[in-house]
Amino acid sequence: MKKENKLFAIFGNPVTHSLSPLMHNYALQGLNINGCYTRYQLKDPKLFKKKFLQLGLVGINVTVPHKEVAFKSCDEIKGIANDIGAVNTVINEEGKLIGYNTDAPGFFKSASSFGEIKNVLILGAGGTAKALAAIFRKNAIPCTILNRSQKRLDFFIQKGYTCFDWKSFKFQTYDLIVNTTSAGLQDNNLPLPQTMLKEIFANAKYAIDVIYNQNTPFLQLACEHNLMVKDGSEMLLNQGVYAFEIFFNLLYKEEDIFYFMQKAFA
Ligand code: NDP
Repeated sequence: MKKENKLFAIFGNPVTHSLSPLMHNYALQGLNINGCYTRYQLKDPKLFKKKFLQLGLVGINVTVPHKEVAFKSCDEIKGIANDIGAVNTVINEEGKLIGYNTDAPGFFKSASSFGEIKNVLILGAGGTAKALAAIFRKNAIPCTILNRSQKRLDFFIQKGYTCFDWKSFKFQTYDLIVNTTSAGLQDNNLPLPQTMLKEIFANAKYAIDVIYNQNTPFLQLACEHNLMVKDGSEMLLNQGVYAFEIFFNLLYKEEDIFYFMQKAFA
């Protein structure tokens, strides 16, 4: 008897740049699963649930700008996604959409391999910063949010995080500095004025830029200060591994999924 072909996708807009189809298809193929992972450009966020069900998908990942819409469209939210207000992984359980966030644990696994982290400074206050702040709090690691402007800090202030904008920033020592802004993605900008960043790096141990496959100005400056650095590739890989585990209800070993998915970065 032929096994049912399972269909997965990533929803985003735009979605052509995403590495997720390559990562998941390597894993499906390597683990000999009858399935396929494609991409779907969702233009109208109101159609999130309808399209998911219409396309007969078993599970999806969600990327910019639909992570918050996905959160609101799910019938049930599990785990840390409840604290973040955004999901990047959704499965269909008998017609009900169940949402998860694997960006947060994916990032945390990547950061943890540096060694002990006593405190963190997060640059930026967008969706990724929310995910990171939630996972550090869950792991009892104090984190401070520093953003260019005040408005987006309100979310973090309401949740009791220490927050600064550029003007109000009071320097302290942080082990890990994370860039979650898009500065450096398509330009040569630093996420913070250079003098401020130099002072912060002079007293830090580690730096991560969530932008992947790029040696950004942020990472270059961190290297000049002899910090241990990482880009966002491991975060991307780990979130994909955790999503795959959710798609298949932990049927496959984490290290096996990782082994096949990392081929997408070769
Ligand atoms: P958002 O658009 O939600 O947030 C953007 C934040 O960056 C805001 O706080 C904004 O500040 C700040 N910002 C933007 N440009 C600058 C600049 N030039 N200088 C200083 N601050 C700036 O972004 P996301 O959280 O959705 O994504 C951010 C990055 O994370 C993207 O580069 C994305 O590619 C990456 N990412 C990587 C993942 C991975 O797996 N590796 C997963 C998810 C995201 P203000 O409020 O003042 O406007």
